[in-house]
Amino acid sequence: MRSSRRDADVPALVEAARGGSARAVARLVSMVEDGHPGLREVAAGLAPHTGRAYVVGLTGSPGVGKSTSTNALVSALRRRERRVGVLAVDPSSPFSGGALLGDRIRMEEHATDPGVFIRSIASRGQLGGLSFGTPQAIRVLDGAGCDVILVETVGVGQAEIEIASLADTTIVLLAPGMGDGIQAAKAGILEIADVYVVNKADRDGADTTVRDLQGMLGLAGRYGVDPDDRWRPPIVKTIASRGEGADDVLAAIDAHREWLEKTGGLRDRRRARAAREVEAIAIAELRARIGGLHGGSTPDSLADQVLDGELDPYSAADRLLRESARETH
Ligand code: GDP
Repeated sequence: MRSSRRDADVPALVEAARGGSARAVARLVSMVEDGHPGLREVAAGLAPHTGRAYVVGLTGSPGVGKSTSTNALVSALRRRERRVGVLAVDPSSPFSGGALLGDRIRMEEHATDPGVFIRSIASRGQLGGLSFGTPQAIRVLDGAGCDVILVETVGVGQAEIEIASLADTTIVLLAPGMGDGIQAAKAGILEIADVYVVNKADRDGADTTVRDLQGMLGLAGRYGVDPDDRWRPPIVKTIASRGEGADDVLAAIDAHREWLEKTGGLRDRRRARAAREVEAIAIAELRARIGGLHGGSTPDSLADQVLDGELDPYSAADRLLRESARETH
């Protein structure tokens, strides 16, 4: 059952999360996932303490090694004494992923580390999915003092591309022998990468995958910032299952971050992210209002009149919008 606003002592939770309480972080992420009425207060409480974390998105087809790579990156970041947040996003699931994914055995070695927060979030379709919940969950981890937040998509499809709009640096993972290059190209995933990782470099075909990728991108071995100051996504080979190459991935992320900061791109990306976040919240609110959550007509209550020709659908929509506008005054 959904908890009421009174159930959550939001200022205390925000304070506890800022102090590094994993339980408070977990609770706040659950509130995001549930679309809890106290979210407004959570966001207000967190706002002065956010904007520090660097957000890295990890995407790629199932089985390429996203979870294993996330795990290896967390270890490498912890060696650098960074506080790390991991957000596993399952955009295809309407169910709460908290229990299912949060307990993932792979991440067990980090589960008791107070410098690592691991949460998973399932998107709720009616609230605008990924664009509603994920930025807010990122805020929670940011406010809790994470230096780096790794956002890993669990599902496939459009959501993988959406993840790029949420991240400061997007990593696209490929693996040899899975036809991934071609699959990824089809899904439009190749264009979103700031860094390519060819994982499973212990397997035959890794160099072929790198060459295919280079061919497809016309990179011809030129990585990093080119003479025109444009970013050329580097290709990094890793063996995530042995933690090999994780430091090279971090170096590629650092180089991309440096370039973003130098060119003003970081601010641009974050501004675009904030704009989408505001839009998603506004749309969710509007949907709640026209859906009758705050009283008044609903699409269902007007449907009979539309069906019987007493009201045309545009006039019905106008009525919903008029009534929802009255709510704000
Ligand atoms: P995900 O679905 O993208 O999250 O992929 P997983 O991280 O679950 O990895 C899928 C499988 O590939 C698992 O059995 C991993 O142990 C294995 N795997 C991950 N990285 C490597 C690697 O570098 N080399 C090899 N040989 N296997 C790997």
